[in-house]
Amino acid sequence: RAKGAGKNRYCFYSEEMGHLEVRKMELEKDLRLALDNDQFYLVYQPKWNARENLLAGWEALIRWKHPRLGMVSPGEFIPIAEETGMIVPMTRWTLLQACRQCKIWQDRGMHKPISVNLSVRLFQTGRLRAMIRHALEETGLHPRMLELEITESMVLHDIQDIIGQIESLREMGVRISMDDFGTGYSSIGLLDRIPLDALKLDRLFINNLETPTKRAVISAIILMAENLELEVIAEGVESREHVEFLMQLGCHVMQGYYYGRPMNTDEIEMWMRTVTP
Ligand code: C2E
Ligand code: MG
Ligand code: MG
Ligand code: MG
Repeated sequence: RAKGAGKNRYCFYSEEMGHLEVRKMELEKDLRLALDNDQFYLVYQPKWNARENLLAGWEALIRWKHPRLGMVSPGEFIPIAEETGMIVPMTRWTLLQACRQCKIWQDRGMHKPISVNLSVRLFQTGRLRAMIRHALEETGLHPRMLELEITESMVLHDIQDIIGQIESLREMGVRISMDDFGTGYSSIGLLDRIPLDALKLDRLFINNLETPTKRAVISAIILMAENLELEVIAEGVESREHVEFLMQLGCHVMQGYYYGRPMNTDEIEMWMRTVTP
């Protein structure tokens, strides 16, 4: 690959770069087949209300079991899926699957909402609303039981158009939350423009509670959310200390390894037995 001299950037990093590029091309090619070959599955991570000591809901997270490479993390394949556009059929599948699972649980007496992550790419298809309506109608899930997680990276796109779509989704009764809040671009400025139901505090905040300055920032965000009547969910809660600290600041809904990792449905059955008396 590092052919010739001159300004070819591959000369610089030859081997390393070559290897990564090859893997990426391979994943890109295989990602196109993954859906038809049933290589995706969903896991679900609980959201926990620590004040009421109650399950608050679930987040659906996609997993890819590659036939040869084994598990590939979403951190690696989601960006590729976004680049290639595969994210669109993939999300159509995820929405359907997540709504179906939520309805199954509901029919068994567990009435908890489910959230699905949406890449900004979905807002550019012109089909998002129809896709969501289809998932709800096909599964019989009530719109109130579905929440969509979006991210701040949207601001780099036609934000006015996206806001219009979000409004239309909320009119259907679907909830919208801002994922990974605080890590992105113009966090605060966005909040009075985008109609939201919840904010998810990025786990970077929670994992950096050691300095007073950082604590002050989280505290201010929680207060602001309260004033805007947004629910706040803390991500990446890994310890009792995290829980206590967040509770003191008035944040009661949490997600993280302390309460439960993302689990498949069998693991969830076992987990449910440990949390219900
Ligand atoms: P996210 O939506 O912010 O999801 C949270 C990620 O943090 C998950 O990683 C989860 O396993 C991890 N996590 C949860 N609790 C803890 C904790 O206490 N400590 C630590 N260290 N990590 C924790 P995962 O499943 O690898 O997903 C990574 C990202 O990939 C997600 O971040 C989301 O942006 C994206 N993603 C996953 N599934 C989908 C999907 O179906 N569609 C789209 N568009 N993106 C997805
Ligand atoms: Mg999320
Ligand atoms: Mg998140
Ligand atoms: Mg995150």
